[in-house]
Amino acid sequence: MPDQIRVTVWGENVHEQQNQIVAGIYPDGMHNCIADGLREDPALIVRTATLQEPEHGLTSKGLAETDVLFWWGHAAHGEVQDEIAERVVRRVWEGMGLIALHSAHYSKVFKRLMGTSCSLTWREAGERERLWVCNPGHPIARGIDRFIELDNTEMYGEPFAIPSPDEVIFLSWFEGGEVFRSGCTWKRGNGNIFYFRPGHETYPIYFHPLIRQVLRNAAHWAAPRGPLWVDSCPNIPVNAAREKLTTKGPQLHRAGDEGFK
Ligand code: ZN
Repeated sequence: MPDQIRVTVWGENVHEQQNQIVAGIYPDGMHNCIADGLREDPALIVRTATLQEPEHGLTSKGLAETDVLFWWGHAAHGEVQDEIAERVVRRVWEGMGLIALHSAHYSKVFKRLMGTSCSLTWREAGERERLWVCNPGHPIARGIDRFIELDNTEMYGEPFAIPSPDEVIFLSWFEGGEVFRSGCTWKRGNGNIFYFRPGHETYPIYFHPLIRQVLRNAAHWAAPRGPLWVDSCPNIPVNAAREKLTTKGPQLHRAGDEGFK
């Protein structure tokens, strides 16, 4: 593990500008509140990026210098340029960690990585949520007792149309009776992915010390552990085969034509 982990917190930064309730809770933007929670851990070197910046603040250089990307989006998923979303996906395949927060379940990046619709059921009633820890031994649950309780949350319920997670770390129960897989992990390419449900913008979720603890734990868990690598589908010419090889039969490709077709 690296001594320091370079984190980028990406925020859509729309409701903070347009909705008085959200602006009142997060006057500096949700991305800055999330970043502040992460900065409580000196091992995390945190910068922020927003939708409104050139290239959404996610330049190739910026992503190359990011070990773990946090993503919060809700109202403007469609405004994220396809080219930038593809760039993020490729970085995840290469080994960058991704933490998808709350309504990021419907972001281009998360849906592309999951390959499913990622739909769910929901209700905005300010009800109680209890997130049960499913595996107290998992690094993302470190420092959390049996559960986290939030007095006011938006409900997300099953069915959650995701591919089966590698592991479910948190399972939520809501006051209205629904349940939801609130903390799930996957690996895509070399990238570790964690989806974490809490974070509706009209409640001060990202000030909660245990939610911040989970986010810091997740940054450590998702950080790349090995050299970054993504496949490029290289051709291995006949004369470069490890054992002597003679070409037999017809070929589709001309000699020296190494492009994949
Ligand atoms: Zn929400």
